[in-house]
Amino acid sequence: MTRAPRVLVVEDNEANQLLTRYVLELDGFELEVAGSAAEAREKLEHMVPDLILMDIQLPGQDGLSFTTDLKRASETAAIPVVALTAHAMRVHEEQAIAAGCAGFISKPINTKTFGEQVRTFLSGARPADGAAAVR
Ligand code: MN
Repeated sequence: MTRAPRVLVVEDNEANQLLTRYVLELDGFELEVAGSAAEAREKLEHMVPDLILMDIQLPGQDGLSFTTDLKRASETAAIPVVALTAHAMRVHEEQAIAAGCAGFISKPINTKTFGEQVRTFLSGARPADGAAAVR
C-alpha cells in the first residue's frame, strides 16, 4: 500500500482549517495546516508535501504572491499548488493560474467531492466539476 498523500493547507480562517482537515483526513490524506505564508515557509523546511492548498487572502503575504515565490524556488517548484478561491471570483481564478497554480477549487468547498477534487490534482488527471486546471 502506498503512503497517504501529504497535503499542506495554507488558510487563515479557523473554520476552514478545521473543515479542510476533517474532510481530507477522513478521506485518507495526511494534513499539515499553516495560517500564513510565513508559517508555511517554516513547515516547508521540514516537509515536502505532495500538494499545497492555497487560500488567496492571507494575513501578511497573500497566497498568489507566495505561490509565485514557491514556483521560483527549486526546492518547492515541483509541488503542485491549488488555489482555494471564493465563488464567483473569476478574476481570482485567472490570477491563480498566472501565479503558477495548477488550478483552483472553489470555496465554500463541497465536502462530498473535495477529496476527489484534490486527488485529481495529485494524479494529474482532469479535475472534476468545480475545479479547473491548466491544460
Ligand atoms: Mn483567508
